Amino acid sequence: MKISTKSIHIGGEPNFKNSGDVVVPIHLSSTFARERVNQPTAGYEYSRTGNPTRKALERNLAALENGRYAFAYSSGLAAETNALFLLKQGDHIVVIDDVYGGTRRLFTQVFSKFGLNFSFIDFSGDKINILNETINKKTKMIWLESPTNPLLKVLDIEKIAQIGRKCRLITVVDNTFATPIYQRPLELGADIVLHSTTKYLNGHSDSVGGAIVVKDKKLASKLLYLQNAIGAVLSPFDSYLLLRGLKTLTIRMQKHSDNAHKVVKFLQSNTHIKKINYPGFSGMVSFELDLNLRQSIRFLESLKLIHIAESLGAVESLVEHPATMTHASIPYGERIKIGLHDGLIRLSVGLEDVNDLIQDLRQALQQCVS
Ligand SMILES: *Cc1c(COP(=O)(O)O)cnc(C)c1O
Repeated sequence: MKISTKSIHIGGEPNFKNSGDVVVPIHLSSTFARERVNQPTAGYEYSRTGNPTRKALERNLAALENGRYAFAYSSGLAAETNALFLLKQGDHIVVIDDVYGGTRRLFTQVFSKFGLNFSFIDFSGDKINILNETINKKTKMIWLESPTNPLLKVLDIEKIAQIGRKCRLITVVDNTFATPIYQRPLELGADIVLHSTTKYLNGHSDSVGGAIVVKDKKLASKLLYLQNAIGAVLSPFDSYLLLRGLKTLTIRMQKHSDNAHKVVKFLQSNTHIKKINYPGFSGMVSFELDLNLRQSIRFLESLKLIHIAESLGAVESLVEHPATMTHASIPYGERIKIGLHDGLIRLSVGLEDVNDLIQDLRQALQQCVS
């Protein structure tokens, strides 16, 4: 089955013993009655542990990433928390330097207090060998995003996962920006693929959620235990919304990508743009304005159609300013060192008519320098 077919059908097969719904019902029940004391009905006991709507979603997600087991959580960061609880005090994790701001905060401000140690380094491109120097006896995990956020560097997941395997580490790939339409890390040798489903997978800015997909049975049983023990599960209603969003994932990603290519072409023709980052797929673009902080903010505030907002991957275009918004918590010196300058803008190209988007960008670029 191809991915667009999977996204529409897996998990939602009609149950002919019941009513034959073609859409997965929202099972709101928090608990499930059984006829015999030691026999849960159809495997369900209590909705934190397992819920039929969430289960349908988890089957769908596993299929999309070509994994075997998936777990849905109440946010992307809840998914990350579950992944980190696979480790124990004293363990060391190597993290790509250009990670999502909330990921960096979770690692450095929360988990570091519980004895996990993190090294944030750039192992993109030909800097991959730095990994071998950074990995030590305590290292248990490599954590990366590709493309990275907001500089959109693409990493060689296959080579990184090979190093991970050789050193017996768990390689985690946050696949939020690429989606399984453009990249399936488990096929490239990664152990865990992680999503903030809040972004492209749901795609409509109306649900916060997260997911983990794995192939390995042992890893899956540990994650199943943690999902229930920690309890940050996705609600039945959000599970339904996500299943609904996923049905159009393929077609949405094609249009996001199409629109992004055209926006990039327009940006290339503008003299106030110093640098454009676009990996050539998906809908995320970042660019550096040849302008100071005040003018860059004026550019953002002059946009009429494109909303200034955190988040990304939705039908509506969203723009944000990493230096003062998503990445503001990174100390100035460190921020500049990793290339997050004051003129850097991150744009999530939506599904509007691309000419309307270009027109909006053009007028805002004229406004901010006038
Ligand atoms: C948004 C995001 C997260 C965090 O997910 P939430 O759903 O906001 O908790 C993690 N990684 C990436 C790449 C993100 O964009």
